[in-house]
Amino acid sequence: MKFSTQTIHGGYQPGNGEPSQLPIAQSTTFKYDSTADVAALFDLSKAGFFYTRLGNPTTDAVERKLAALEGGVGAMLTSSGMAATLITILTIAKCGEHVISTSSIYGGTFNLFAVTLKRMGIEVTFIDQNADDATINAAFRDNTRLVFAETLANPALDLLDISRIARIAHEHGLPLAIDNTFPTPYLCRPIEFGADIVVHSTTKYLDGHGVQVGGAIVDSGKFNWSNGKFPEFTTPDPSYHGLVYVDAFHEAAFIVKARAQMMRDLGCSQTAQGAFYLNLGIETLPLRMERHSRNALEVARYLERHPKVQSVKYPGLESSPDHALAQKYLREGMCSGVLSLILKGGREAGVVFIDHLKLVRLEVHVAEVASCTLHPASSTHRQLTDEQLEAAGAPAGLVRLSVGIEDVEDILADLEQALSFA
Ligand code: PLP
Repeated sequence: MKFSTQTIHGGYQPGNGEPSQLPIAQSTTFKYDSTADVAALFDLSKAGFFYTRLGNPTTDAVERKLAALEGGVGAMLTSSGMAATLITILTIAKCGEHVISTSSIYGGTFNLFAVTLKRMGIEVTFIDQNADDATINAAFRDNTRLVFAETLANPALDLLDISRIARIAHEHGLPLAIDNTFPTPYLCRPIEFGADIVVHSTTKYLDGHGVQVGGAIVDSGKFNWSNGKFPEFTTPDPSYHGLVYVDAFHEAAFIVKARAQMMRDLGCSQTAQGAFYLNLGIETLPLRMERHSRNALEVARYLERHPKVQSVKYPGLESSPDHALAQKYLREGMCSGVLSLILKGGREAGVVFIDHLKLVRLEVHVAEVASCTLHPASSTHRQLTDEQLEAAGAPAGLVRLSVGIEDVEDILADLEQALSFA
């Protein structure tokens, strides 16, 4: 099946007389006939469901759909994008180990890495993703276990040279995990460019309607966990009666470990109802992403010409330094609906502009059908210093605009009237 067909038919194909739409298995647990059946499930020797924290038929169907859309061997839904990133890190790295992350990432992830992981004894070094190879190589240590980056960074909108960062990570025998939230697998499939793990905040375009917070992890199945750096994958897990993940699950070792160990212990699972909403969103993903991208390019071109606008960041613009990368990594160069701008009047003008918008909603959100806007420095990135704001690509005057799928003339008219006050 091709991509759009998979968005509808992937993960769940009804049998004779079964519901056409994915059923919601609203049940915490599942009934079995014998203790032997349940024991086999606990041994992971038989596939099936026993407790919804660890698996549920509805979430399972959406996981299989997402794995297919990203080109991976398996996926796991989580209660949020933050949970997806946390579980990814903790499945691979532990106290005393080290992670490398690009600095151009979502503010919440930056905080998780810089503060919370540090408290847990995992140190993160932030790198400039556009630094030369020698500079990036210098960040690696003997105890580094993972490289993390964002395809299209929120809110900096820097586009990652995925193949290059994957090559560098692999030269050090380490996996590359990529947050692919903004492009979604419709616009970019990072695994095809060398990423080993893909994470999502499904709260954004995958859902697309702003109804359910959620996350997902997809395992490419391509990373060699037996290269000597990951003994937790190749030696018996005492918390799972001696299971050796690579021996038992081969190319799916990472995603099984993420579920069997981390989801079991941390419990940040998605609900069946939440997975159902996500599935509905995914069914229209290609149509929405095309419209978001087309509208955003038109808005970006309009803003770029506006006399009150100092700069516009959108990789779809021919003037963008990332334009060539967009042509390489994003389907037909489509860059999603998110762009950012800085007004000539700086922080104050940005605030006045936002406060006068009528159609475009002021929301702590992004990537949904309705156009919305946010001032990162006073909201999502509020905890960062001015230097960290610069490093994260969100200087104090930056306004983030998430262009929706309304008629673009209405969006442009609203921007025009609000800019007249700024
Ligand atoms: N990654 C990116 C790129 C995001 O934009 C966000 C949230 O805005 C997250 C991760 C965190 O996801 P969630 O809010 O679903 O926990």
